[in-house]
Amino acid sequence: MTDIDNLRNQMEEITLEMIGLLKKRTEIAKEIGQVKKSLGISVTDESREGDLRKKVLSLSKELQLDEKLASKYLNFLLNESVRVQSSDKQTHLSIFLKAKEMEEKGEKIIHMEVGEPDFMPPKIVKNALEEVYDKGFVKYGQAQGMPEFRKEIAQKNSKEFNQSITLENVLVSPGARFSIFLAISTLLNPGDELIVLEPAWPAYKDCALNAGVKVRTIKTTLESNWEPSIKQIEDAINSNTKMIVLNYPNNPTGKILPIKIQDQIIQIAKKNNLYVLSDEIYSEYSYKEWKSVLEYNYEKSIVTQSFSKSHAMTGFRIGYTIASKEIIEQMSRLQALSLTNVSEPMQYVALRSLNEDTSKNSRIIKSRIMALSKKSKELGLEFVEPDGAMYVFARVKKDGFDGIKFANELLELGLAVAPGQGFGDYKDFIRLSACRDEKTLMEGMDILDHRLRGKI
Ligand code: PMP
Repeated sequence: MTDIDNLRNQMEEITLEMIGLLKKRTEIAKEIGQVKKSLGISVTDESREGDLRKKVLSLSKELQLDEKLASKYLNFLLNESVRVQSSDKQTHLSIFLKAKEMEEKGEKIIHMEVGEPDFMPPKIVKNALEEVYDKGFVKYGQAQGMPEFRKEIAQKNSKEFNQSITLENVLVSPGARFSIFLAISTLLNPGDELIVLEPAWPAYKDCALNAGVKVRTIKTTLESNWEPSIKQIEDAINSNTKMIVLNYPNNPTGKILPIKIQDQIIQIAKKNNLYVLSDEIYSEYSYKEWKSVLEYNYEKSIVTQSFSKSHAMTGFRIGYTIASKEIIEQMSRLQALSLTNVSEPMQYVALRSLNEDTSKNSRIIKSRIMALSKKSKELGLEFVEPDGAMYVFARVKKDGFDGIKFANELLELGLAVAPGQGFGDYKDFIRLSACRDEKTLMEGMDILDHRLRGKI
């Protein structure tokens, strides 16, 4: 046998052995998942992962194996564990789907689980939909979006945030969710790490998992006013860390970070050369001072926006990203590959409604949030008064309280709420959404009140 054959045989043997070990590891991960489920503990345990990471790094030092490679390999294994243990995760979406099924059977459900404004899009949308046909906006187009639309978006944002944004910095996408998917999938590589501050909208984690990217969660608490400490962030950064996600006003807490903390986070990101993915979908629903990440003029920032919440246009599936020309080009390539381009009629309609005054929407939601907060206080729920967005994220103080179980029980009584577990390790929380008229919301809160007092 020649040398190369011999070496190849050894390679093959080791690779097959690794596959065998992977199978064994996955089986154990599944078993652990079952135990975690029965004990009601969350899938990711950052401190266990941290301990294992230390051991792996120390071993790789001893073996003189590249630490970065070892930790990428570890990240792949950790992600696999998360994946097999998260298969039946319940979120607001599962409650929503169950509620829809019940409605089809004729039951009446009050929807306080979804973040979908109940009001109509701006009136101009109706005319624009008709104009689409006559004006011939019915063809294929540029992957990045219609130039006239991108130009308008660039102008609007330049003016609002005192920046010089051009159409090359803008990518039109079918909703913020897709923009986030594109950013995570194209800018990060398998084994890279992404920092998410929890509680958080679940898609950041899901997109990372899908791309083989490891999520480092930083848990914030109600006691700390939903503010992360700078030390928590610094401690989570290592040589594989490539991005941090911000979402303020926040879903689910409604928090807006004090400007000083946000400034410090951007400083840390700059120092460590991290991308900052800032999901600013609730910016129009800010009830106190809020600063866009665009204002930092940081070349590695990616800001996502949408017409879903500000313009109540969830069904139109349209949003956009603002970033450097290079980042936009990278994201556009995956968009071209997967979509060709965003539907031209929808782009035209969004273009026509871009500069509509939607402040009434935010006034309505603000007043509902105030009513929800007042009622939540009366019910003894614990929460931080929202600074923005359209939710109240509240803790139910009851021994052994389980958000998923409670949300399913409430559903049987005609009220849909989102369990806290959908947003991280928050089993004793529920999210109440202010996307129904005040009277309906109060009916929902009455059901909640009765259930909490054990009357039904
Ligand atoms: N980001 C956050 C924080 C959200 O809450 C949502 C929707 N609930 C989205 C993004 C997705 O928005 P879009 O409809 O634009 O995809």
